[in-house]
Amino acid sequence: MAASAGQSFTATTHQLKGKKNGGKGKSKSSVKFKKVPEEMLYGILNEKNIRQIQFGIDKRFPTWYGSAVYFDPETKKLGCSDSKSQDSCGSNDQYWLDTLFVCEYCFKYTDVQARLVAHAAVCPFQYHSPGKIKYKSPEYTIRRVKGSKYQLFCQCLCLFTKLYLDNKSMYFKVDHYEFYIVYETGSTKPMAFFSKDLVSYQQNNLACILTLPPYQRRGLGLLLIEFSYKLSQLEGVISGPEVPLSPFGLIGYLKYWSQILCWHLIEGDLACFDKVSLDDLSIVTGMRVSDIILTLKHLNCIGENNQIYLQSLSTWLKSHGTKGNWFRLQDEYLLIDD
Ligand SMILES: [Zn+2]
Repeated sequence: MAASAGQSFTATTHQLKGKKNGGKGKSKSSVKFKKVPEEMLYGILNEKNIRQIQFGIDKRFPTWYGSAVYFDPETKKLGCSDSKSQDSCGSNDQYWLDTLFVCEYCFKYTDVQARLVAHAAVCPFQYHSPGKIKYKSPEYTIRRVKGSKYQLFCQCLCLFTKLYLDNKSMYFKVDHYEFYIVYETGSTKPMAFFSKDLVSYQQNNLACILTLPPYQRRGLGLLLIEFSYKLSQLEGVISGPEVPLSPFGLIGYLKYWSQILCWHLIEGDLACFDKVSLDDLSIVTGMRVSDIILTLKHLNCIGENNQIYLQSLSTWLKSHGTKGNWFRLQDEYLLIDD
């Protein structure tokens, strides 16, 4: 029963591949594609085209960005839709669709509310989340979901992400990506995730990160960033996120990097040294030297010849103190055995 619900409920992998060049269709509404051809490939629009998301049965929130990737480029109808009563807006409106109904367990989608309700009753991921547990504390569980194994789940997650991140993230070629998804321990509802490109030539430890709108302001982004560094340090790699970072991404990273550098320089292993080099900091933190310099400049704690001003760091720390909550991950709950 779940399979049949899924067939009418969302795009198949084949349909998604067909939308690789989504957005080249002729526009009937006021929404225009950005002129750069490369961006057309990623379905980026310069205006929102879905007004809001109904996420599961009880959550509703607006989208942040427009994305063409859910739609048939010719008809502007949802790729999976066979409905003539699609809830789209008039041709003078900027929206192609008023409400997209998305399963909060598996991210399958529909334009018909009754289908979401029917699917919610049978979605297998509400009983068993995909992937393997890599971290499990009393509070949070992080699961690794391989794109090669859970292709449709990962594709649907990537499609959803495009409504909340303004970047060139991929959405259908998920085979060489892993997704690390955080849940409340005991729950099967994804709250935040990051993806990791397994064939990253720069050895990036994170490609894309998003906290889902209902779960923001809980520090989940910082938890996942910390986890991404934990993974790369266990691999013995000095690493960092894929660049360029989005404005929100940069804010999150500067917060994380600032705290980590302050901890190591003021409380941690390097606290007893009068002089610390950038290479020392890189080895201890697992951060790239370029990211360390960026952060120290942000903190106004670095001078000519890359001299680090520890006194300035102490001052910053007093005004931005983390009250002892330096780390969100607790090593004893890591389950990383491969
Ligand atoms: Zn589902």
